[in-house]
Amino acid sequence: MKISAPRGTKDILPDETYRWRYVDETFAEICRLAGYEEIRVPTFEATELFARGVGDASDIVAKEMYTFEDKGGRSLTLRPEGTAGVVRAFIEHGMHSLPLPVKLYYNLNAFRYEKVQKGRYREFWQLGCEVFGPTSPEADADLIILLWQFFQRLGLNEIRLEINSIGCPACRPRYLEALKAYFEPQLDHMCGDCHERFEKNVLRMIDCKVETCQAIASGAPYQLDYLCEACREHDAALRSRLDQVGVSYLVNGRIVRGLDYYVKTVFEFVSEHVGTQGTICGGGRYDGLVDQLGGQPMPGVGFAMGIERLLMELEATGAPLPERPGRDLYVLAFPNTMDPAAALVYGLRAGGVAADLDLMTRSFKAQMKYAGKGGYKALVVLGEDEANSGVGRLKWLQDGTETDVTLETDSLVRLFGDHNKR
Ligand code: ATP
Ligand code: MG
Repeated sequence: MKISAPRGTKDILPDETYRWRYVDETFAEICRLAGYEEIRVPTFEATELFARGVGDASDIVAKEMYTFEDKGGRSLTLRPEGTAGVVRAFIEHGMHSLPLPVKLYYNLNAFRYEKVQKGRYREFWQLGCEVFGPTSPEADADLIILLWQFFQRLGLNEIRLEINSIGCPACRPRYLEALKAYFEPQLDHMCGDCHERFEKNVLRMIDCKVETCQAIASGAPYQLDYLCEACREHDAALRSRLDQVGVSYLVNGRIVRGLDYYVKTVFEFVSEHVGTQGTICGGGRYDGLVDQLGGQPMPGVGFAMGIERLLMELEATGAPLPERPGRDLYVLAFPNTMDPAAALVYGLRAGGVAADLDLMTRSFKAQMKYAGKGGYKALVVLGEDEANSGVGRLKWLQDGTETDVTLETDSLVRLFGDHNKR
């Protein structure tokens, strides 16, 4: 029986993994520069964590979670996102007593039972940041600017930043009333999920993906028109910091984000290149979340970005990508010179040269053929003469030129060091 990868998952093979590594490393570097440190959290958590942390009424919790019972009868869930686990860890390790702000970043896989399509999978990867401590709009800006600089460093100039404010517990109730008043007379024309959202969380009705619902929602009132003084000032200060740093943005009063815990600032980075799944990155402020998950009240702001969609953007826009890493040197040998060849190869590796030799008991001719296809920069023959004299001829495969070399670790390490610098 042939077994394939489960629907919505995919293998990332060596012809792609180096691009992932490039994105991972660039992100880690940008985070380091901005003072964020990495956190790693478990792949599965108590189901309760996501029910409380993401919100019962969200699509994620209502429809998309991979929940199972373990042999001890606990209900566990494969994480559908990173924030809830990071917040849990923050509380569990008493990180509220660390000097604030606490700035964390993560790089993790997440799982959602989704309708699989381009840019939408059941296992996918997210890069994200969370800042705990500050209530200031400048903290929101700090995150957005980090993302802006990340995209710039990757050469992505066609990603648009959209921001919105969804208010706070002080001003949201009045807005929710206005929303209810707006949707109520049209409820008959809306989907079953929206009926439920109307009861449980009317804000969610704004980003329903059903077309007829979208058409109705497009006429709904905007939270921006209902902000209290504090939220208005917060929003203005965020915009002014973005203006000052030269980050351009669009105000989009329709962004509400799929997760329940956001207040005030919400934002997305969107692109035309990733099809209908245009959101590459989404984030916002979640001042009530730590509290809600049982910690001492602690404001927070964060974002999560899908790596698959980011890579789609990199490929679609023709942004510069690194070359697939090559191998340096293949040492061809004969049965009676395999030992000195091995000594040379392992010495070279210890010195930082990507060297290799035959493991397939191939004939000399077959080794030659393999070396030509193996992506090596150079090859060298280590026969009996070379073993005795300690001198050989190194052939550069790109242009066919040859160099006489001493078959000794230090000088070859130096040779490849110089070559790889060029
Ligand atoms: P969407 O509206 O596309 O469903 P979302 O609001 O569910 O997105 P978030 O939960 O905010 O997304 O996750 C942040 C980012 O993670 C998204 O912007 C996207 O890049 C990525 N992402 C979310 N779900 C998936 C998925 N199923 N497959 C691939 N990437 C995803
Ligand atoms: Mg979603």
